[in-house]
Amino acid sequence: MGKLVSSRLPSRWGEYTISAFGDEGDAFPHVVLHRGLSAFDAENPVPVRIHSECMTGDVFGSARCDCGEQLSQSLEHFKEHGGALVYLRQEGRGIGLVEKLRAYNRQDEGLDTFEANRAGGHDDDARNYDDAVGILKELGIENVLLLTNNPLKISALRQSGLSVVRQKCVAPVTTDNADYLKAKAEITGHLFSTD
Ligand SMILES: [Zn+2]
Repeated sequence: MGKLVSSRLPSRWGEYTISAFGDEGDAFPHVVLHRGLSAFDAENPVPVRIHSECMTGDVFGSARCDCGEQLSQSLEHFKEHGGALVYLRQEGRGIGLVEKLRAYNRQDEGLDTFEANRAGGHDDDARNYDDAVGILKELGIENVLLLTNNPLKISALRQSGLSVVRQKCVAPVTTDNADYLKAKAEITGHLFSTD
């Protein structure tokens, strides 16, 4: 796994370098957008969002989860401060789009987001961050200001030798996402306090 190609990507959130990471021939490589990395040093950790793909939230503005809101908050942050988005192709907490949509149907029958995954034979969270760690190291990023609410992500990066300071990335609670956010807080210890 390594960098396959980089290009220039002007966007509504500023001008980025976009890179694809994977193995040659991968149809769905991981994607990194970064800007202004040279401005950071040991005293100034690089703002980083490690974002697992959520097509429904990221592309279609789904209100069932907080992914799209976290993605746009992160890009707004990078627009002002610089940083790196590591976009991992592990849709649906790692179970893929088809199984995620099946889990949505179970949620509409009353299960929470984790119960719905377990009913499909999946773990609570099938994601892993090994590729993200490899990508950050390849980019020379060892000192991270991590935009996240996920304690598992923070500990995974720390165990890999990266220095991590957390920056909150909290989406507003709505009627559509309230149960989802509550389950994430209770079951995987997500940190949603906004104080
Ligand atoms: Zn989502």
